[in-house]
Amino acid sequence: SKKILVVGGVAGGAGTAARIRRLDEDAEIIMFERGPHVSFSNCALPYHLSGVVKDCDDLVLMCPSKFAEQYNIEARVNNEVLSINKEAKTVEVKDLINDKVYTEKYDKLILSPGANPIKPKSITGVDRDNVFTIRNVVDIDKLNKYVNSNNVKNVAVIGAGYIGVEIAENFIHSNKNVALVEAMDQVLQPLDFDMAQILQKELYDNGINVVLADPLTEIHSDHVVLKSGKKIKAEAIVLAIGVSPETKLAKAAGLKIGETGGIEVNHNYVTSDPNIYAVGDVIEVYSKIARSKTRLPLAGPAQRQARAAANHIYNIPNRNNGVIGSSVIRAFDYNAATTGLNEKQLKKAGISYDFVYVIPMDKVGLMPDANPIHFKLLYEVPTGKVLGAQAIGKGNVDKRIDIIATAILFEATVEELTELELAYAPLFSTPRNAVNQASLVATNLINNRFKQVPVTKVRELVENDAFIVDVREKDEYAQGHLINSINIPLSELRERTAEIPTDQPVYLHCRSAQRSYNACLALQGKGYENVINISGSYLGICCYE
Ligand code: FAD
Repeated sequence: SKKILVVGGVAGGAGTAARIRRLDEDAEIIMFERGPHVSFSNCALPYHLSGVVKDCDDLVLMCPSKFAEQYNIEARVNNEVLSINKEAKTVEVKDLINDKVYTEKYDKLILSPGANPIKPKSITGVDRDNVFTIRNVVDIDKLNKYVNSNNVKNVAVIGAGYIGVEIAENFIHSNKNVALVEAMDQVLQPLDFDMAQILQKELYDNGINVVLADPLTEIHSDHVVLKSGKKIKAEAIVLAIGVSPETKLAKAAGLKIGETGGIEVNHNYVTSDPNIYAVGDVIEVYSKIARSKTRLPLAGPAQRQARAAANHIYNIPNRNNGVIGSSVIRAFDYNAATTGLNEKQLKKAGISYDFVYVIPMDKVGLMPDANPIHFKLLYEVPTGKVLGAQAIGKGNVDKRIDIIATAILFEATVEELTELELAYAPLFSTPRNAVNQASLVATNLINNRFKQVPVTKVRELVENDAFIVDVREKDEYAQGHLINSINIPLSELRERTAEIPTDQPVYLHCRSAQRSYNACLALQGKGYENVINISGSYLGICCYE
């Protein structure tokens, strides 16, 4: 029978070990974990800070004795693998409790050591005892205890990625003053700039002091200093500025490291040594859309890779589709989900794309809790192949994004999405839901049925004195409108065409781009040749009066 050793006892490691047991009742499986816990929920860690998860022991899903009883897997916690000898097929392990080093032999070795939170030495004071990073149950327990026992009132969370935003929100729920500091000009990089504005507003509105485009430079006992010189009061600081793959073991063993800094693996997660596999946050993966190597430190891919690596050991064929990159987050009352590539990534990959931005309701408007859903769909030009989507709203935005993730896997086009027959009743959706609607608009664009410009171009249009017609009703216009736009409500448009010139481009605008789209078609029908819809939400436009 085979002897299989696994390094790391969480998402990738525990997943591989369990799958191996399902495939082979006789294998000897030992899983080494440096920390005191295996199989805990990393993703739920931030929710301990607000008490949603009251007891941090609840974050631990499986203990070593359960692994032994249910799976006949030996989970050795507090045991760190120090080195690999790939020629002798052995690992050197340190028992951290008894301070003993020993050697263990393997037939196959699986590496799932994860990724370390980044702590740049260039930040003054980064090693102070009021600075925390969050990776495991010990970390979150330590932070929570520090904040409570030192009566911390002000917290600075550095990095507005998924983990930073979740930690900031949970600290607000536990009545702390929270600053969220980000070096880039927007929160949540997986979202495009225009979409991120909606979440940023939600964070501000809930009392988070969001500071953008200003990197952290110094940490002191009761404040931090940013590059601009700005000082922010904070007795506890959480660094959530990204992770770097834990490749120390692999590098020392001479395993090949890829161009992105993760361990290089083939399509079956075999490293440069045929008896060593690697999965999870430590590896580099292949982006199906960008057709290049990338890293994607998320739990879903780690689980899929774990299963595939175990399969390969037992000669079960895998189909490696590469990664798409799907994720979701809640920030207070808003949910935001994304899949595929965003505009920045598409530009970097040199892919020719366009996008539509629609804002339909997530349920029939008469129903309780019906809310707009901001939905952006990106597709390849001229093929119409679906490349990505982002959705933000108070309802189930992830449902729409999961449809797009499925479409991307099966390489669907926007035209094909128009034909999707999706579940509908008024409490759940609309008869033509966001996915159908966005794909209809995209199909019309591909077929040159009308023209559009993104809302992000509005400032430029206003500055260049473009002719902009706001087709909302008069009372909406009175509440605020684009500088220099004239108001001709859609309901009056057909009678008032004399006010609209035929010898220059005419831009049409409304709340969600739907009425203005209808206005575009009406004017085109009346012979206008250069009418352009302004697509997207007016949120984030700064040239209103
Ligand atoms: P890990 O889960 O980090 O496990 C690796 C383990 O290996 C560690 O416990 C480490 O101690 C151990 N180890 C390392 N080196 C050695 C050694 N030499 N010897 C012994 N043991 C070793 N993903 C999502 O998809 N959705 C989310 O909502 C989400 N939220 C998250 C929230 C937080 C706060 C964090 C930290 C992560 C979150 N993630 C989320 C990411 C997700 O948890 C990771 O992608 C996933 O856990 C990766 O699994 P892994 O096995 O590669 O690494």
